[in-house]
Amino acid sequence: MTALGRASGVRVGGWGDAGRAMRGPPPPLPVLFVVLVAAPGTRAAGYETCPTVQPDMLNVHLLPHTHDDVGWVKTVDQYYYGGWGQFQNELHHGAVKNILDSVISALRAEPSRRFVYVEMAFFSRWWHQQTNATQQAVRELVRQGRLEFANGGWVMNDEAATHYGAIVDQMTLGLRFLQDTFGDDGRPRVAWHIDPFGHSREQASLFAQMGFDGIFLGRMDYQDRELRKKKREMELVWRASASLQPPTADLFTGLLSNAYDPPKHLCWDLVCDHDSSMVGDPFSPEDNADVLIDHFLDVATKQWQSYRTNHIVMTMGGDFHYENAHMWFSNLDKLIQLVNQQASGSPVHVLYSTPACYLWELNKANLTWSLKEDDFFPYADGPHQFWTGYFSSRPALKRYERVSYNFLQVCKQLEALAAPAANVGPYGSGDSALLEEAMAVLQHHDAITGTSRQLVADDYARRLAAGWGRCEVLLSNALARLSGSQEAFSICPELNISVCPLSQTSARFQVAIYNPLARKVDRMVRLPVSAGAFLVKDPSGHAVPSDPSPELLFSASVPALGFSIYSVSRVSLRRSKTHIPQPISQKPGSAVLNIKNEHIRATFNLETGFLMQIEDLEQKLVLPMNQSFFWYKAGTVGQKISQSSGAYIFKPQQQKPLPVSDSAQIHLLKTPLVQEVHQNFSAWCAQVVRLYRGQRHLELEWTVGPIPVGDKWGKEVISRFDMPLDTKGYFYTDSNGREILKRRKKRESRVGENYRPTWNLNQTEPVAGNYYPVNTRIYITDGKKQLTVLTDRSQGGSSLQDGSLELMVHRRLLLDDNRGVGEPLLEEGSGSWVRGRHLVLLDAVGTAAAGHRLLAEKEVLAPQVVLAPSGSALYHPGATRQLQFSGLRRELPPSVHLLTLARWGPQTLLLRLEHQFARGEDSGRNLSSPVTLNLQNLFSTFTITRLQETTLAANQPRASASRLQWNPDTGTTPTPTVPPLDPASITLQPMEIRTFVASVQWEEFNSKS
Ligand SMILES: [Zn+2]
Repeated sequence: MTALGRASGVRVGGWGDAGRAMRGPPPPLPVLFVVLVAAPGTRAAGYETCPTVQPDMLNVHLLPHTHDDVGWVKTVDQYYYGGWGQFQNELHHGAVKNILDSVISALRAEPSRRFVYVEMAFFSRWWHQQTNATQQAVRELVRQGRLEFANGGWVMNDEAATHYGAIVDQMTLGLRFLQDTFGDDGRPRVAWHIDPFGHSREQASLFAQMGFDGIFLGRMDYQDRELRKKKREMELVWRASASLQPPTADLFTGLLSNAYDPPKHLCWDLVCDHDSSMVGDPFSPEDNADVLIDHFLDVATKQWQSYRTNHIVMTMGGDFHYENAHMWFSNLDKLIQLVNQQASGSPVHVLYSTPACYLWELNKANLTWSLKEDDFFPYADGPHQFWTGYFSSRPALKRYERVSYNFLQVCKQLEALAAPAANVGPYGSGDSALLEEAMAVLQHHDAITGTSRQLVADDYARRLAAGWGRCEVLLSNALARLSGSQEAFSICPELNISVCPLSQTSARFQVAIYNPLARKVDRMVRLPVSAGAFLVKDPSGHAVPSDPSPELLFSASVPALGFSIYSVSRVSLRRSKTHIPQPISQKPGSAVLNIKNEHIRATFNLETGFLMQIEDLEQKLVLPMNQSFFWYKAGTVGQKISQSSGAYIFKPQQQKPLPVSDSAQIHLLKTPLVQEVHQNFSAWCAQVVRLYRGQRHLELEWTVGPIPVGDKWGKEVISRFDMPLDTKGYFYTDSNGREILKRRKKRESRVGENYRPTWNLNQTEPVAGNYYPVNTRIYITDGKKQLTVLTDRSQGGSSLQDGSLELMVHRRLLLDDNRGVGEPLLEEGSGSWVRGRHLVLLDAVGTAAAGHRLLAEKEVLAPQVVLAPSGSALYHPGATRQLQFSGLRRELPPSVHLLTLARWGPQTLLLRLEHQFARGEDSGRNLSSPVTLNLQNLFSTFTITRLQETTLAANQPRASASRLQWNPDTGTTPTPTVPPLDPASITLQPMEIRTFVASVQWEEFNSKS
């Protein structure tokens, strides 16, 4: 994504007029040399190689950089190699392979030059293609600090549509490559999120826990930016957790002056050919040095007025810049030489630098900084231009990514539990690496966001599918090993549309259900089958209740980190009871219809067919409501509008959404295990409201699409719940699936009356400007009752009126929003028809967290259903069949989530344990209290022989990790000491994640294991 809209590098028009206007005496510099400087010679680890600065001058740190999107207008591979034909340059410029070749040779040519590189998906690929000699030269550049890695994740991930688990995984992958390749010399000190479209608080918290000393951001709301510039609060301390003890989640945050672009007229890349090169030859009639230097000094001075030390940065680069690195560097060489040469007349010193070296100077300034505790959502780059559409763009891809996160964790756990037998076994070779990389790519800020071109989105899906293939082999190998029998295991990825050839054609088959949670789960299994009656037996051979139609339904119980294998066989003796949804005949006198189980009753209005009330029967809570679907009218072709909805932007043409329908046709289905109301709103919008036996939440399974656009209107479809709850303008959304942020929309939605925590908002879009990312949940409360809706993928959501809650489920648009992707979001074929689920929980406020935390965990890491035909061979002669298995000797307590269990090395595993409750969140069962675990003899297939604690991304031992200290205005907080590590007593504070590399010894599997 380009920094300032489309093709930011290409400056239109010459700069002659502006240049002439800038001639004249250099403007006076504000007197600001009151900055404290640390004692010379003292350098924090990692900053030893930083360049010398001039303490009595304004130091302008030039940061040569390239922003290489891991897919956007072109696919990942087209960007790496440059693409072919029309993709080479016409569609979008960019060839990362050439960029890295060119940069490395330019760095070697001149020792003062520096460069920063970010995306490991590209760099690692390039690295593996180099000769030993080149690799050695690059190692030396890294050691000298001249090639600096910033961020260092596989990609620069999006922050709005990503789940924290996937963020941690992708950062771990990239940082591990750097650590393995360059050791501590290559460890990034600075996070660099210059392009993501808004910034989440959880992301900052995760970066802090990864050990970063600071972060630089490129995009923020235009009103916020202007105000911060005036107040000189472009640099601040972000307190990114309400639970973790400061400064654990404090992150120094620098907001860049010009996003990530170079200053106007100072862009010297192939793609900015309208800017004049520095000539610097006084005998040439073309010499422009004076003009450019005056301009440079002018820009520097103006920028300085918004910052607080005698250091500022200029980002010298852009999207896919430096393919001909010599162009950039030769101009920068000359600029530095000429500005510094005339230093006697100018108090400006300019130098090649890096983000870390700039950060180091800020730290040495020893100032106190303003404190920020909210986040940077939503992002607008101008009036009526809210980037809140991408929260929901490409809902099918967003769901595929979330399911893939689930499957990747299953794959990694089995790889850890079954050891080498998972990788090589009766089904061939499999591993988690390919899916891990594909998932990392999907976190990129043009991937999971849905803001790439269609051909690129297809490529992302292709990558996931290839990763699944390797993991399926691994899964079969591992299940065979752990169960002692060789089944032809297969998964049915299309169960969401009731397609599974094995269950639909077999009279007998087995169902293995693997549970990736550290606690037992009970789960309803639904499988499409042919007509008839079926007998389902649990692992101990007992028949379990099942419903045969319209799909086979039974409740499975699966142990922690383990599996249960159920057998299913068709029985011909009994006559099958088929359940077909019955049309509701409206009886006089009964205007309502109920479905209920032991815990919940849901009531429907027979006149409209809409859900009209939910009751919690145990807590005796009653909440009337109206739930239905609406759509916002997006732009139409030929319409003269300055801004339309597109892949990024949500810009409804009217603030009031239109109903999809005034009523829904409904059908009722009741069986012993499930009660469902099927609602049909229109030819393209339907929903099943479902209550399984024993379930404590109401499930709304919606199916939307293909959204018709034949009327020439783009449509953005929402599901909306309206309730008589006095919510006082507040609602709550999760941040990347983890901590909760309080959102506020003032009661009166008059323009100018909307709310932001840190500035007086001039609201131009009452709807789009109040949309926030919802990764897993959104809720509203009146202080007594709380209604929570869990999502199965990231969506945009809001509460625009008191007691109202809405989620955008799908969008289809006819216009491009002019932010560079150059294509309307008009998905055709797969992706146009989307099915998803909203899980609705009604609770008393004090106990609501226990409900939504534990349910969200079960949804994100749902059991994996695997099928096999009956009649298999033993894993090896003498093996014992095991129909039930647990990787844990004891369950973990409910407040603890097993975030990661994965192979790390030949004899090591990566283990992350997380307290999944926030401080003070649960008053019912005390789940917000600290919890202590004993890791000894915890796992059943291996023994931990040694445990080392690391920072969150596992690239530094925790004991030796240190971060730069920053002082917020509110006072300094001393860094807490790291407690000694005792595997028998691992304590987790609310919301704390602890990461370990464990040396392990796997148990010898034998026939009796
Ligand atoms: Zn980008």
